[in-house]
Amino acid sequence: MQRISFKIRRKIIGTFLFCVLSVLVFAVFSFRIHQEIGNRLRLMELADDLFHDIQEIRRYEKNFFLFKEAASLAEAIIYVKRVEELSSAHEQEILRLQMGLKYSEFKETLNAYKEIIVKIAAGKEASRLLVLEESLRNLGHKLVEVSEGWAKEERRKIDRLFQQAMYLFFLSVLVFFVLGIVLAFYIARWLVRPLVQMQEAMAKIAHGDFTPLPEPESRAEEFLPLYRAFNRMIQELEDHQEQLVQSRKIAAVGTLTAGVAHELNNPINNIVLTAETLQEDYAQLSPDEAQAMIQDILVQSERASEIVRDLLDFSRSEHPEFESVSILAVIQDTLKLVRNQLSLSGTQEEMDIPADLPLIYGDRKSLQQVFLNLFINAIQAMPGGGSLRITASTVEHGPSSPNSSPTRHWVKIDVTDSGVGIDPKHLPHVFDPFFTTKDVGRGTGLGLSVSYSIIRKHGGLIEVHSRPGAGTTFTVLLPIEDESESID
Ligand code: ADP
Repeated sequence: MQRISFKIRRKIIGTFLFCVLSVLVFAVFSFRIHQEIGNRLRLMELADDLFHDIQEIRRYEKNFFLFKEAASLAEAIIYVKRVEELSSAHEQEILRLQMGLKYSEFKETLNAYKEIIVKIAAGKEASRLLVLEESLRNLGHKLVEVSEGWAKEERRKIDRLFQQAMYLFFLSVLVFFVLGIVLAFYIARWLVRPLVQMQEAMAKIAHGDFTPLPEPESRAEEFLPLYRAFNRMIQELEDHQEQLVQSRKIAAVGTLTAGVAHELNNPINNIVLTAETLQEDYAQLSPDEAQAMIQDILVQSERASEIVRDLLDFSRSEHPEFESVSILAVIQDTLKLVRNQLSLSGTQEEMDIPADLPLIYGDRKSLQQVFLNLFINAIQAMPGGGSLRITASTVEHGPSSPNSSPTRHWVKIDVTDSGVGIDPKHLPHVFDPFFTTKDVGRGTGLGLSVSYSIIRKHGGLIEVHSRPGAGTTFTVLLPIEDESESID
């Protein structure tokens, strides 16, 4: 058992770790994407700021060339320095985010622009003012272009990152969906199936079917020890069931003893009387007369030994042997065992079984035990005498018959007594093991439960109908031979 729990635990932990790992992988990817989006947003803001400052520079540059005010040039230089400071403050970040190319182009252009504007402000090259103005315009234009392109590119990158985040989300949904289906399927096959098999086997045991479970498939091999333990339990239950059947047999023999003793008494008395007469009158008897008396002794002895043989035959413990069985013969043999019991209790016996009733496939001894239980119960239910009626016929499968193919045919045997009947509150329990309403020593409460399991083993069904005060009918349904599906 330790091995099973270890293996199952390992599988459960493995599956759990796999799920946790998948969640972690998605979480890391998602975290990275969000971090990247954050960085890019900051960079986009920076590019926007730079673009804005550069436009200011260009505004002052234009003012200077239009109105030739030195103040405009000074403002433009302040903004150039601001742009320089802003970009170098974020230089590390810009480089880390692989914007190196754009950045170096931007820096070069800014430096060239600054150099020219400083030269103009210094008033050193007033003669070349027109040329410098042209270069400054070009460089200013380029600065606007680069900073604008930079902001646009950042925006594009952010869009792409959002798209990636969306794909990652759909991918994770898909992966978890597939994982969920695979896990559900796996759990259903690996865990639920063996449990369902066991549940079905237990339901069968309750109906007397002790068929062992087939070994589990390789993927459920951790259940192997459990299956084996379960099958051992089924085997032990079956052995106990056999013992129960046997002990019920012995109990039935005990119940028969009074009748049997009476039946044995007659032939023994006859033997003793005939032997005494033979001894006393031996000299006066003709050889023929003596011969007839000896013959009488032999016939009576044979009768006595037949009674003992019948009893021994019934009580002997044997494994069931399935063969073609005539229900008429089984019931006649069983009636022989209780005949004296019937006459002692003043019970009228009636039997209506057609001679051509189809054979069934079953174990003669077990079936005899079922009918003996029914007959003894009937006799005990009629303490002041009454009638015991046994009828049999062939029927097609009806609504209360066992679940089977609609074409199946059955032999139906009714055992009806005119006894005290069964209290409705006891009716659902009569087939329960150890349920008895009889005094201690008279009833064991096993007769009907053993009969039930024997009939189930034959693929049949046993039912009871009773009205208190009016009598009881036990109905046994057994499948006809060629259609039977005996479990044994
Ligand atoms: P037992 O005969 O040892 O009590 P059974 O399992 O054969 O055990 O029967 C269980 C109970 O069913 C009996 O105690 C009795 O109350 C009831 N019962 C069975 N057969 C009859 C019957 N023919 N008439 C009335 N009651 C019956």
